[in-house]
Amino acid sequence: MNFYDSEKMADLLKPHGYEIDICADNADLIVLNTCHIREKAVEKTYSELGRIRDQVKNRKEKTGKQSIVAVAGCVAQAQGKEIMKRSPWVDIVVGPQSYQNLPELIAKVDPIKKNNQINIDFPTIPKFDYLESEMNKREPSAFLTIQEGCDKFCAFCVVPYTRGAEYSRPIKSILDEAKKLIDIGVKEITLLGQNVNAWSYEGRDNKIWGLGRLIAELAKLKGLKFIRYTTSHPLDMDLELIEAHRDISKLMPYLHLPVQSGSDNILKLMNRKHTAKDYRKVIEKVRDFKPDIAISGDFIVGFPGETDKDHQETLNLIKEIQYSQAYSFKYSVRPGTPAAISYNQVNEEVKSKRLYEVQEILREQQLKFNLKSINSAIKVLVLRNGKKSNQYLGRSPFNQSVYFSSGHKNLIGSTIDINISEAFQNSLTGKIINTNNQKL
Ligand code: SAM
Ligand code: SF4
Repeated sequence: MNFYDSEKMADLLKPHGYEIDICADNADLIVLNTCHIREKAVEKTYSELGRIRDQVKNRKEKTGKQSIVAVAGCVAQAQGKEIMKRSPWVDIVVGPQSYQNLPELIAKVDPIKKNNQINIDFPTIPKFDYLESEMNKREPSAFLTIQEGCDKFCAFCVVPYTRGAEYSRPIKSILDEAKKLIDIGVKEITLLGQNVNAWSYEGRDNKIWGLGRLIAELAKLKGLKFIRYTTSHPLDMDLELIEAHRDISKLMPYLHLPVQSGSDNILKLMNRKHTAKDYRKVIEKVRDFKPDIAISGDFIVGFPGETDKDHQETLNLIKEIQYSQAYSFKYSVRPGTPAAISYNQVNEEVKSKRLYEVQEILREQQLKFNLKSINSAIKVLVLRNGKKSNQYLGRSPFNQSVYFSSGHKNLIGSTIDINISEAFQNSLTGKIINTNNQKL
């Protein structure tokens, strides 16, 4: 979502004369878009700010030039005043729901007077109403935020506090943005939301549409070839969305469905409002409708109170589900969340051991999933050039990175059939099938 927000900020600033620079050294404006989900991400904000101060801001000022530094995103939201205290040279602090005000805030900054600007409101008029600007170029695959915030209040999570209450973007605004993306050459759209499948809005038939219905509408757009969505919550996987995986060929066979833990005790302490059995049932149903679907997930190890038995239940669930890939994290204490004040914190050593065990199985499962692709033909959307000469990187329907070589000058944005010859932990390699028969 931060990636999407960063692209939106760049779009917003384009009419004001700003262009994206790949290096901060000579930039007139540096926006650090930050994440608050785990402590490590927050630490990175402060270390990166130190680097920007030393390497860019101070050096530029010595040569009489100025650069404006803005901190955006969820750290700005949660620690805005702290940032201003620790780094008073920062010019702007802007929260994830207020970045539509960036042009105005930039205009107000006076580097001589050092009048830093802070804007961390949750505005009553949603930011999307202000983001209808001209678009910078995108890769063939782009993100589109349709839902933000969360009302579920899991005991470990900062999202409800930093991104605010659950909000679903109107259908027209989503379709308009999708059309704009298609017009600039985007072929694949990933719909985004902290709980993307909680999205709902009243449709033109006066009925409440859910994500499955929205995907059906997007699938009608000519030029859009692939649709994905992330991240989902097990409680919001309704039948219409599950059926969409069977019925809509543009919807990719990939589902990222976090469960966090395989233990009902821990799920209860986490305030997840579902059991491990509920999760298993959802996966079973999804696989009934779409047997080859790739399943991904998120896991937290070492949540306060997690015993060896609870941990074993997580390992059992992972073994049973068989993931194509998944994300796993050590529980990170987030100030202000209910779990942060628990007396039953798990020690770091135990967390590390448990994380290793979870990741070991997930690594095995990912490799096993990738190995199954060998000698099969896979349709790949070509995203960009690889690091080697004549090499391209594409994405498979199952969300795997696929590398292949070709002397064709520009295949980026094409959909190409690749015969997979080798499979690795994180990627596949292969050759283009029968170039003559493919419209490149
Ligand atoms: N809404 C999704 C759900 O409920 O499953 C997850 C979205 S959350 C923004 C992304 C992931 O970050 C979570 O699935 C969780 O695994 C991880 N996460 C969130 N808070 C965390 C914490 N305090 N410590 C470790 N991981 C955390
Ligand atoms: Fe965070 Fe997801 Fe729980 Fe909402 S449902 S509080 S985003 S983990």
